[in-house]
Amino acid sequence: MLCQDLIKSSYDFTILYSYLNIARLSVQDSGHTIHPMTAISSKTDIKELTRDELILWLKLRDIKSYRANQILKWIYLRQADTFDVMTDVKKEIRKRLSQHFSIHRLEKERVETSQDGSKKYLFKLSDGKYVESVLIPEKDYYTLCISSQVGCAQGCLFCLTAKGGFIRNLTKGEIIAQVRDVAYDIGGSKRLTNIVMMGMGEPLANFSNVVGAINIITDRDVGLGFSSRRMTVSTSGLVPKLSDLGRETTVNLAISLNATEDKTRDMLMPINRKHPIESLLDACARYPLMPRRRITFEYILLKGINDSEEDAKRLVSLLRPIQAKINLIPFNTYEESKFECPEESVILHFRDILNKNNYTAIIRHSKGQDISAACGQLRANMILPKLSVSNSDKNI
Ligand code: SAH
Ligand code: SF4
Repeated sequence: MLCQDLIKSSYDFTILYSYLNIARLSVQDSGHTIHPMTAISSKTDIKELTRDELILWLKLRDIKSYRANQILKWIYLRQADTFDVMTDVKKEIRKRLSQHFSIHRLEKERVETSQDGSKKYLFKLSDGKYVESVLIPEKDYYTLCISSQVGCAQGCLFCLTAKGGFIRNLTKGEIIAQVRDVAYDIGGSKRLTNIVMMGMGEPLANFSNVVGAINIITDRDVGLGFSSRRMTVSTSGLVPKLSDLGRETTVNLAISLNATEDKTRDMLMPINRKHPIESLLDACARYPLMPRRRITFEYILLKGINDSEEDAKRLVSLLRPIQAKINLIPFNTYEESKFECPEESVILHFRDILNKNNYTAIIRHSKGQDISAACGQLRANMILPKLSVSNSDKNI
């Protein structure tokens, strides 16, 4: 097939897909549920639609496309909870919208606050599953750590999220809602400016929903308006998806490397058996980085496993072809964990070797450890039985 034909047919397919999606939405007149996971009664959460899908939905009802921007601005910029408040949209249109769509907020099952000020949100989803997000106070701003899946299928040995297995992908609307709802919740002068996708799940295993959510989160005209420079997606290394992420978004990339030899990484992170270190770093070297940006390599330090001087030196030479900076994450322990965190002196020595070789290497002590909100400590669905008897913080 000629290249042009290919492009045209994929374009046609996109249009066809959107029509099918919108046609399905139109069936809602008869009361059918379209997105069961985010539907409230029989209505679809409007955040599941892209701008183009909303335009198409309006078009099918002879409503001008500029209305889509008005509606989206109300939802994301003005945090509207109902269509009624959209005073610059005709009453008749508002009525039709509210017959079909809801503007959903996540149910806050519990909010815990750490001694260091971090807040862990436990959200209950429409199908009764749970997911966690963590709000981290910095000096002048907040960082929000969001989830991309309920559970995770990657099975990394050190990670508590992995222990509960994979339950399901979050929808686009559920990913966006974590940011929209927490931003709404924050009072005071300190603003939420940074978003990291380092919560539960492997973002690149839920690629289209993650990219769809990023598009809205970073849309300055009709979306939530976050800077893509201040948004980071962290991956365990789904190599085939890396170039797609670089092509379709301009967010920062973080790679959970965590080992410098395949035999260690194979053991810690099963994904390495499919995509070994060399192929992962090759993909990183080819990654279409924005000017003046670097890829962040996350490296958990595990006592006696990956914390030797040789590891530090190998890390230096492995990362040489890449514009890289390194976050050293001392292992966050939890009850049933087999691993331990190295001594402080070992961590500092590891960092110094990297620094001496001209790498920016920062030791990241995760916040929120007292409420199990630190990296790798999120496990919403496993604490479910405990929650049902102790949900005293409900809807703070
Ligand atoms: N699935 C993605 C993003 C979520 S995990 C990924 O793996 O990158 C976010 C980070 O937490 C990863 O860098 C991971 O290596 C780290 N992590 C997982 N468990 C941890 C633990 N117990 N202590 C410290 N960091 C951990
Ligand atoms: Fe999944 Fe990331 Fe945890 Fe690995 S570290 S199990 S990829 S959430």
